[in-house]
Amino acid sequence: MDYVEILDWLRESRPTRLAALWQRADQTRRQQVGREVHLRGLIEVSSHCIRRCWYCGLRADRRDLPRYRLSESEIMACVQQAVDRGYGTVVLQSGEDPGLTADWIARLIGRIKSETPLAVTLSLGERTEEELFQWREAGADRYFLRFETSNPTLFGRLHPPRNQESDGVQNCSDSLEHPRLKLLTLLRQMGYEVGSGVLIGLPGQTYEDLAEDILWFARLDLDMIGVGPYLAHPATPLAERKTCLNLPPEYQVPASMEMTHKVIALARLVCPRANIPATTALGVQGGLQGWRLGLQRGANVLMPNLTPPAYRRLYEIYPNKEQPIADQRETLERFLAELGRLPGRSRGDSPNYLLRQSKRDSSQKITCSLSETIPHG
Ligand code: SAH
Repeated sequence: MDYVEILDWLRESRPTRLAALWQRADQTRRQQVGREVHLRGLIEVSSHCIRRCWYCGLRADRRDLPRYRLSESEIMACVQQAVDRGYGTVVLQSGEDPGLTADWIARLIGRIKSETPLAVTLSLGERTEEELFQWREAGADRYFLRFETSNPTLFGRLHPPRNQESDGVQNCSDSLEHPRLKLLTLLRQMGYEVGSGVLIGLPGQTYEDLAEDILWFARLDLDMIGVGPYLAHPATPLAERKTCLNLPPEYQVPASMEMTHKVIALARLVCPRANIPATTALGVQGGLQGWRLGLQRGANVLMPNLTPPAYRRLYEIYPNKEQPIADQRETLERFLAELGRLPGRSRGDSPNYLLRQSKRDSSQKITCSLSETIPHG
C-alpha cells in the first residue's frame, strides 16, 4: 500500500467504502494473527516524569498532581495478578523517571523472568543505550516507545528537549534527528521485539503527516503498533494554548474514534503480522464500542490495567482514564466470545518478530555451514 492510497483512506468518509477497509483489515488479522486476543497486564510503575511533552498530563511542570513510584513488592503483587488471570505478558510503563534506576529495573526484570512464565514489555520512555542494553540482557522481551508523530517539526514543538527551561517552540530539521525513530532502530538491533505508534489528532497534525506515520510503521517493520486518539488534558499547554498550532479544519486530522479505527486498519494492512492493541485511550473515548470495533477492524490485543486503583487515578496522562471493562476475567471472556474471539493462551509473541528471528537463525546456520564446507587455504 503506497502513500497515495493511505492518504485516500484517511480522507475517505463514505460508509460503503469504509466497510471495504474494515473487512480487508479484519480478514488480514484473521489470516495472519488468528482469533486470539492477547491480554497484557499493564502496570503503571511510576508517574514521576522529567519531560514536558505538551499534551501529557504527567509533564514535569504539573505541580498539582501527587506523584508515586511503586515499590518492588507492590509491582510483584500486580505481576502475580497477571499470572493468576492467565495473561501472557506484563507491561511496565512509567513517565520518564530517573528515580527508576537501571539496576533497580534490571533486578525487577530478573525477578519477573525467574519467578513467572510472563513476557516482559518495557515502556519507560527514552533511556540511554546502556540502560536499554542492560535491561535486554536482564531478560526484557519487548520495548514499546511511540514516536508520537513522524513530522520532525511537530515532534520538536511538542517535545522540548530535557535541558530546555521554557516551553519555547523547537524545531528539528529531518527525520534522522527524530530522537525516537533513532532509538527504535537501536532497540531492534538489541534484539527486542519492538513496538511503537502515534497519537491521532494532535493539534497541528495533517492527513499527510499521518499517512507518513503509517509508512514509518512499515519502514520500521514494527512488531507491535499502539495508536490512540489525542485526548486534551486541561492542565497542559496544548489544551490551554492550542491556537499556536491551529490548522485550517480541512488539513487537521480529527482526534475521532473513526480516525483511530482507520489507522488501526491501515496498520494491520501495512504490518500484517504485528500485534495491535485496542488501546485504553480508544476505550476511554469510545467505550466498549471503541474496543469492539477496534478488534473487528484489525486489533488483536487488549491491555487490562493492573495498577492498584489508588495509584491508577494518579497516572493521569489524560483525564477520565477509566477502562470500559472491569477487571473480571469472566466479563472480558464474555465480551470476546460475543465477537467470536478467544483470550490468548500463550505469551503472544508477535509473529513478525518470530519470523524475523527464524530468518536470522537460518541465515546464521547457512553462514556456519558454508564456512565449514569452504576449505581454508
Ligand atoms: N514515558 C513513556 C510512557 C508515556 S505514556 C514514553 O514516553 O514512552 C504512554 C503514551 O500515552 C504516550 O506515548 C502518549 O502517546 C500517550 N499520551 C500521553 N498524553 C496523552 C493524551 N493527552 N492523550 C492521549 N494519549 C496520550
